[in-house]
Amino acid sequence: MTSTVESVYEEVLRRNPGEAEFHQAVKEVLHSLREVEKRHPEYADARILSRIVEPERQIMFRVPWVDDKGQVQVNRGFRVEFNSALGPYKGGLRFHPTVYLGIIKFLGFEQIFKNSLTGLAMGGGKGGSDFDPHGKSDAEVMRFCQSFMTELYRHIGENTDVPAGDIGVGGREIGYMFGQYKRITNRFDAGVLTGKGLDWGGSLARTEATGYGCTVFANEMLGTKGESFDGRRVVISGAGNVAIYAAQKVEQLGGKVVTVSDSSGYVVDENGIDVALLQQVKEVERARLSEYAARRDGVKYVQGGSVWDVNCDVALPCATQNELDEAAAKTLAKNGVKVVAEGANMPCTEGAVKVFREAGVLFGPGKAANAGGVATSGLEMQQNASRDSWTFERTEEELTSIMKNIHDTCLATAEEYGTPGDYVAGANIAGFKKVADTMLAYGVV
Ligand code: GLU
Repeated sequence: MTSTVESVYEEVLRRNPGEAEFHQAVKEVLHSLREVEKRHPEYADARILSRIVEPERQIMFRVPWVDDKGQVQVNRGFRVEFNSALGPYKGGLRFHPTVYLGIIKFLGFEQIFKNSLTGLAMGGGKGGSDFDPHGKSDAEVMRFCQSFMTELYRHIGENTDVPAGDIGVGGREIGYMFGQYKRITNRFDAGVLTGKGLDWGGSLARTEATGYGCTVFANEMLGTKGESFDGRRVVISGAGNVAIYAAQKVEQLGGKVVTVSDSSGYVVDENGIDVALLQQVKEVERARLSEYAARRDGVKYVQGGSVWDVNCDVALPCATQNELDEAAAKTLAKNGVKVVAEGANMPCTEGAVKVFREAGVLFGPGKAANAGGVATSGLEMQQNASRDSWTFERTEEELTSIMKNIHDTCLATAEEYGTPGDYVAGANIAGFKKVADTMLAYGVV
């Protein structure tokens, strides 16, 4: 029996019922692989596709903890160790009430190809919990993280599986988890988590990396049209780690970010988003965006509504999956958007991507455009392994060169496989081939 794009997709639907986001992520990748399938029958013979859509290991566990009122709470924890062909499983942890197995599997699947594109030795994995850090005290977050790590620690290690942050998991959570890991194991294994604090094995520029990388990638896309961010009007969704640093880099490159958003609304700031104020409101105070609008003159706060109604040259969706649908894509295209690059994971629906393609809007998929975060996690692992710490400049230089390289690889691969200018095909094919060739080399394992 061989595996084909069609039969594998049907099998994925059948064996993973109810996991819509995972189906969506798999469909997009498989769709890009038709030409690869024709040119490389060896993959079908070895059933690479059937193997690559099946996680190597899926871990689900109970996370009990006690809240500030003394009540017992129970959450569910996940770690999906998807593919370790290229290196230890690598990928973030997401703490958000929408988390279920289908979300973690979509993210873990994307991570395989994203990590492959970075050129660093990292496999793909993802984890998290349906725990909602929003509105919880520091003490509650700490107790949850300690309980989560009390189970997770036995599955991870610098050569096995290296988690990091994602939505709802930043420096605070990584600190609590690293502390608990160190206590349980009695080992200072710096390389077991990335996104650590600078005093205990973290890397300079890791905090900025996903956002910076996304903007650098979008700038390269603009470059193919002989343009740059200079003087460009930019719409960014989200107001978390990715959005904040994407905005900062746009500003450094001479562009103007006019919006950011959170789950309750968005702000329009025609003077350009004040990144320092945004950091204060979102990162220090963990407050709502309405607070940003309240503290700055001339800012419009729109409750609800769609940030994609705001006209722009470049759109960077940096919030969450499926936040930009077909209707929003049509509005953006009508308003003249030239480039869309995904800072979040799969923020554009399948319908939205189709609209961009048909309208001739350049579209950079997340597994390429937001790879800067995990790439810099890879650089953090290198620093940990050599007990070294690099300067901000050196780390950012490496990040920038990785992003440019991913951009060029996407274009060259798209060209080679007959879809010039298609970043989705380029990213999927280039990311896939390296993993597939390695799986062939290993035999059936
Ligand atoms: N969560 C980030 C991503 O989606 C980073 C993962 C990491 O640094 O391991 O790629």
